[in-house]
Amino acid sequence: MELQYFAFLQHFMRFNRQVYLDHNATTPVSDRVRKKMERVLKSQYGNPSSFYGLGRESARLVEQAREQVAKVLHADPAEVIFTSCASESNNAVLKSVTAHYYPRRKKIVSTPIEHPSVMNTLAYLETQGVIIDYCPVDDKGRVRLAELEKRVDDDTFLVCCMLANNETGVIQDLKAVARIARQRGALVLTDCVQALGKIPIDLHAWDVDYASFSAHKLYGPKGVGALYVKQGSPFTPYLHGGHQESGLRAGTESIHNIVGFGAACQQVDKLLTHAGQTRALKRQLIQRLKEIKPDCVINSPETESECLPNTLSVTFPGVENAGLMGMLDYRGIAVSAGSACSTGEDTPSHVLKAIGLSDQAARETIRISLGADTSARDIRYMAQVAQDYFEGRVSFVNMLAPAQLNENILFDEKTYILDVRPPDDRKRFKGLPNAHEVNPLRVENYLKQLPRDKEILVYCPGGGLSIMISYYLKSKGFKRVMNLRGGLDGWRKRRSDLYEKYAGQNVTVLEPDKIN
Ligand code: PLP
Repeated sequence: MELQYFAFLQHFMRFNRQVYLDHNATTPVSDRVRKKMERVLKSQYGNPSSFYGLGRESARLVEQAREQVAKVLHADPAEVIFTSCASESNNAVLKSVTAHYYPRRKKIVSTPIEHPSVMNTLAYLETQGVIIDYCPVDDKGRVRLAELEKRVDDDTFLVCCMLANNETGVIQDLKAVARIARQRGALVLTDCVQALGKIPIDLHAWDVDYASFSAHKLYGPKGVGALYVKQGSPFTPYLHGGHQESGLRAGTESIHNIVGFGAACQQVDKLLTHAGQTRALKRQLIQRLKEIKPDCVINSPETESECLPNTLSVTFPGVENAGLMGMLDYRGIAVSAGSACSTGEDTPSHVLKAIGLSDQAARETIRISLGADTSARDIRYMAQVAQDYFEGRVSFVNMLAPAQLNENILFDEKTYILDVRPPDDRKRFKGLPNAHEVNPLRVENYLKQLPRDKEILVYCPGGGLSIMISYYLKSKGFKRVMNLRGGLDGWRKRRSDLYEKYAGQNVTVLEPDKIN
């Protein structure tokens, strides 16, 4: 199984270069962190709640990590709670503070560019009667402070504003935000996930009540987050159970992950020192992109103090991000879309929309996020591959717009429809008629069955995964490959008439090729 999966990945390594430029999605675990975690996994299995020696040693490691995290946040260790991820931290604060205040005060003021772990929790709280007011941002994503001042009133119990945005890198004036909140007696939650290790953090100086963090954005492990709760600020547990984390978050501590988080925080000073180099590389990249595509639009603030050093959101007019990302991936380069298409939906990014981009411009936007290991060579390579693509020096996958997918194509004998949706999407939605379902992570296991004399129409939920697989098929000699832009989601919206009439008809589930 592992080998088969590896074979699929190997295709993407055929150019012998892997350039990872998606550090805002996640970072590789650093060697130092990994070694510390391995030591814990190997021998430190005691439960921190146990009183005997092995347990006490685990408890000591958790407390040591808490001190390491607190130090880089400028917080007291007693103000740091370990959680499973930043999404949990955000959920916990929003729900806990609401329970504390509502209905005495009824309003949360936030921004329209928060991470989904905030946006979707706010949407949920709205269904429970909480008034959610989104303060507008300007064309660079900066919160309009004068507007914020008007919106925060005596009915507001919380102002929720991220420190740095994951898509554009814009940094907010958190001190000013907190001051406005304080004037009306409102508390402040800030999502600092993208900021830690990229810009200095000083929670005490900023005077915020709550802040969320995640280790995997900091060369630490996935599955551990932290929540800062200022001493004295109200907080009731989100997870009930044992008395771990001073009774504020139940569940046996994930010691190896927590130790990994602590070790990652020990690298923060070094990362901050390195930020200047990263910024210089980003500058080079912007310059190069402007040379090869002079009409490109930089969405990230170009004033350096207003943007994370590693993050660049850029729009290439006339170039669909899905196709560009597919091509970059084919050449071993990982970037992400400015739109949510990679997550399986055809909805343009709410962040890009909030800063004024049209749906079309959002679909022409990519996010490039550099890391501590990114080199000038990586940047040159990325720009070269993008240039090849812009200048048509690569073999393209055809793109089919959702509105163009009509009965003629659906029922054309010369079209072979390949469904590469993940199982959960197949459970939720019926697919295209006449489709052939394969396991999207094992496409290499079906190649013998796919026809070489037909046009293969590949589709997934949002058009992101399918474009990667389309390029993979091209590399395997399939001459005519077409990708459904916007995926099933786009087609359901644009051709609901056809969806109602034909979805789910005559679907074939393919078995993997027989190995001789
Ligand atoms: N907040 C921001 C700004 C993020 O970028 C992310 C992750 O992408 C999160 C929250 C969620 O973090 P986690 O993956 O730890 O839940």
